Amino acid sequence: FNTERFGQHILKNPLVAQGIVDKANLRPTDNVLEVGPGTGNLTVRILEKAKHCTAVEMDPRMAAELTKRVQGKPEQRKLEIIIGDFVKAELPYFDVCISNTPYQISSPLVFRLLSHRPLFRCAILMFQREFALRLVARPGTDLWSRLAANVQLYSKVDHIMKVGKNNFRPPPQVESSVVRIVPIDPPPPIKFEEFDGLNRIIFGRRNKTVHANFQAKGVTEMLEKNWKAWLSENEKMAEDDIPMKQRIEEVLTDIGLSETRAAKMDIDDILRMLSAFHDQGIHFA
Ligand code: SAM
Repeated sequence: FNTERFGQHILKNPLVAQGIVDKANLRPTDNVLEVGPGTGNLTVRILEKAKHCTAVEMDPRMAAELTKRVQGKPEQRKLEIIIGDFVKAELPYFDVCISNTPYQISSPLVFRLLSHRPLFRCAILMFQREFALRLVARPGTDLWSRLAANVQLYSKVDHIMKVGKNNFRPPPQVESSVVRIVPIDPPPPIKFEEFDGLNRIIFGRRNKTVHANFQAKGVTEMLEKNWKAWLSENEKMAEDDIPMKQRIEEVLTDIGLSETRAAKMDIDDILRMLSAFHDQGIHFA
């Protein structure tokens, strides 16, 4: 175990630690999931406010330190520590997730939380500043990307606090930010793999036209394969022998989005495009 590999930058500023926990607006009935508690600077503040906290920590030495910190105190019975990798751990029911996240798992953390059921109420997460800004980016701005579109399809994300590197020991290389993620409930009935599959294509080169991105190598072949699979699953026959390239063009022209660029498309535009393709039996996953 080493500091860099596990991103072990301990939050030393008590005001910031309290600020993060306060932003979660914890209720006395809440079950909290904490990812990467380290020595427990957030954990002890969570235990003051919540009914229960499950903390997933990969480093057994950190887990031992946290155990010691609550030992013999009334909070002890409110805390369960799971020693292991968050990405693989079986998650309990939780209302709120709080994490000063190891930055290596930023993306898997967000997507794992959003696909968890039942849905949580909110997540307060510390990320590398750059990643946080990409999460909250709006269409038409420089940082709007496949990541922002995928996350914002299922949740509302806000940037709530900047945290400078000197609040940590040892200080990391990069600045940090805290974001709040509130899932959209009920979630839109869109298969993530389909939405993401379309985004992979149109954000391939986000400033090129959608039309140009669909002409990238391999795209037509992939969609043709998916289309044939869809036909056979639905026991249908192709009604014509229009080449896939032309089929794609017709969909894009019909909805008037052939010459737009993903950089400027909002989530509704992307959903409209996805549904127009689905109407023609063209799938992305
Ligand atoms: N939450 C503490 C704080 O604010 O002071 C520690 C934060 S430190 C940036 C990240 C913590 O996550 C470390 O304790 C590290 O061992 C742990 N960690 C790293 N990768 C992990 C993973 N995949 N699953 C669970 N914990 C992990």
